Amino acid sequence: MSRIQLHDKTFDLFISEAEVNRAIDKLALEIGRKYDGKRPLFLGVLNGAFFFAAELVKRLDIECEISFVKVASYHGTSSSGTVTQLIGLTERIEGRHVVVLEDIVDTGGTVENIMASLAEHHPASVSIAALLFKPSAYKKTIPIEHVALEIPNAFVVGSGLDHDGLGRNLRGIYRITEN
Ligand code: 5GP
Repeated sequence: MSRIQLHDKTFDLFISEAEVNRAIDKLALEIGRKYDGKRPLFLGVLNGAFFFAAELVKRLDIECEISFVKVASYHGTSSSGTVTQLIGLTERIEGRHVVVLEDIVDTGGTVENIMASLAEHHPASVSIAALLFKPSAYKKTIPIEHVALEIPNAFVVGSGLDHDGLGRNLRGIYRITEN
């Protein structure tokens, strides 16, 4: 199925399931080598990262732990703008090597806030691994160290990503059609 409809929008197949799988294979090799012997804690950011987290960790044969967090965004005072809070971090991460798993990094606001929240708990290291990264939309300076696929600045769904609740279960990545 190469064109699909979700609510009021249409999307075209952009990256095949096979290509997504190949990109995650490659990333798993890279992460496996880097974290072998370090017993990393993978922290998947829900909801979107459930797919990427499962696909990545099933390819790793190093000793590791996996857990999930959520981010809650709310508008603070006009001076603080949007505030992001991490919810559900139950592990002690002090002294641990943490890898944040994100479905997509767009402007980078979300990962920047997550990194700031995690830093308060004094981990040994924190890195970011993203299924998708939009370099041309990125506005921050934190390095996105591990990226499966770089994509242009367009709205996409599938492989965990949704449009208003729909599309997370689609295999591959679909890109919104230009009207
Ligand atoms: P940020 O701009 O903070 O890097 O990204 C914020 C969030 O926007 C992401 O975690 C994701 O939930 C959502 N987002 C950004 N780009 C896309 C996209 O192309 N598709 C979908 N489904 N969500 C996106």
